[in-house]
Amino acid sequence: MAQRSRARLGGDYRSLHRQNQMLAKQVDQLSMLREIGLVINRSLELAQTLPDIANVVQGALEVRRLTIYELDEKQNRLRPIIAKYGDDLITAERLEEDSMPFRGTPFEEAVRSGAVLLVAEPHRRAAFVPLMAEYNALGVLLLEDPRDGEPFDPEDRAFFHQLGAQIALAIHNAKLYAMAVTDGLTGLYVRRYFDLRMEEEFDQARRYRRCFSLLMFDIDHFKRFNDAHGHQTGDAVLQQFAQLLRRNTRRADVCCRYGGEEMAVILPETGLAEAARLAEKLRGRIAETVFEGAEGGALSVTSSVGVAAFGRAMTQPEDVVRAADKALYAAKEGGRNRVALASETPAGGE
Ligand code: GH3
Ligand code: MG
Ligand code: MG
Repeated sequence: MAQRSRARLGGDYRSLHRQNQMLAKQVDQLSMLREIGLVINRSLELAQTLPDIANVVQGALEVRRLTIYELDEKQNRLRPIIAKYGDDLITAERLEEDSMPFRGTPFEEAVRSGAVLLVAEPHRRAAFVPLMAEYNALGVLLLEDPRDGEPFDPEDRAFFHQLGAQIALAIHNAKLYAMAVTDGLTGLYVRRYFDLRMEEEFDQARRYRRCFSLLMFDIDHFKRFNDAHGHQTGDAVLQQFAQLLRRNTRRADVCCRYGGEEMAVILPETGLAEAARLAEKLRGRIAETVFEGAEGGALSVTSSVGVAAFGRAMTQPEDVVRAADKALYAAKEGGRNRVALASETPAGGE
C-alpha cells in the first residue's frame, strides 16, 4: 500500500517536473522570440536585416548552419539570400551559384504544408521552416546541425513556426520598404529617400566632425535627345545611366534619382578632392559609353556634374544641395560635359 502511494507520488512528481521543464522552456522560447523580434526589426534595410536575422537566430538556436532561401515559384527555384556557416556570414553575392530547383524537395513539402519539417537521419539533422507572410510563401529557413548533436525536438515545431513568421514579416517589411524607396524606372533611390539620407549624413558630419560629399548629374540636352530618338529610348538611356552610376560607385554611396534626368550621389566619408576625382571618372565613363536605344542602335550622351562637400559653416542639408546645384549650373554654363566644384564655403556662408 505504502509502496503503491510512493510510486504514485513519484509519478506525480515526475510529471510535475516535466511540466515545469516544459513551461520553463516555453518562457525561454517566448523571450527568445521577443529578443529576435526586436533585433530583426531594428533596421528596414534588407542588407542589414538579413545579417541580423542570421546572426541572432543561429546564436539563439545553437545550430552550426543556417540558410535563408528565397522562393521564386514561377522559376521553380530557391535562391539562398543569406547563410551563416559556423562563424562565417555569407551574403547573397557569394551564394548566387547555389540556387536550386524547388519542386519535389523537402523545401516544397514545408511550404505546401505550411508546417515545419524535421529531418532526423544519422548524418543529417535539419529543420525546414516555411517563411510565410500574409499567406504568401517568401521562402524557407533551413536550420542544420544542432551544436548538441541531438536531433531537433518535435516539440519545438511550434516555436520554429513562430520564429519563421517573425522572420518572414521582417523580410516582407524590408522588401516593401525597398520598393517604396526605389524609383521604378532606374532602380535608384527616390527623392524622398535622398532627403532622408542627406539629413542623416548632415547630422553625422556635424556631430562626429566627419565629411561627406554630393555629386549632382544632369544629362546634357536631354530634351533634344528625347525629341530625336523618342521618349522610350530616353528611358532606356536613363536606365543605363543609373546602372553606370551604381557600378562605378561603392556600396556605401547612395545613388538617387533626384528628379527627371537629374541623378545625385551621396558620398559618405568623402572630401571634396576625392569626390571631384570620382565625378571626373564618372563623367568620362558616361561620355565614352555606347548606350543602347529602346530598339537598339548605338547612342551617346554626356552629363554635367556639380560637386559639393559638407562644410563646417553649413547649417542644413539644403546648403550642400544648393552648393552642388550651383556648381552644376556652372558646369552647364562652362560648356557642358564637364565637372565643376563648389567653393568650400557655402552659398551665402562666411
Ligand atoms: P541641359 O540640361 O543640358 O540644359 O538640357 P536639357 O534638355 O537636358 O534640360 P531640361 O532640364 O530642360 O530638360 C530635361 C529633359 O529631360 C526634359 C524631359 O523630356 C527629359 N526627361 C525628364 N525625365 C525623363 C524621363 O523619365 N524619361 C525621359 N525619356 N525623359 C525625361
Ligand atoms: Mg534637368
Ligand atoms: Mg539636362
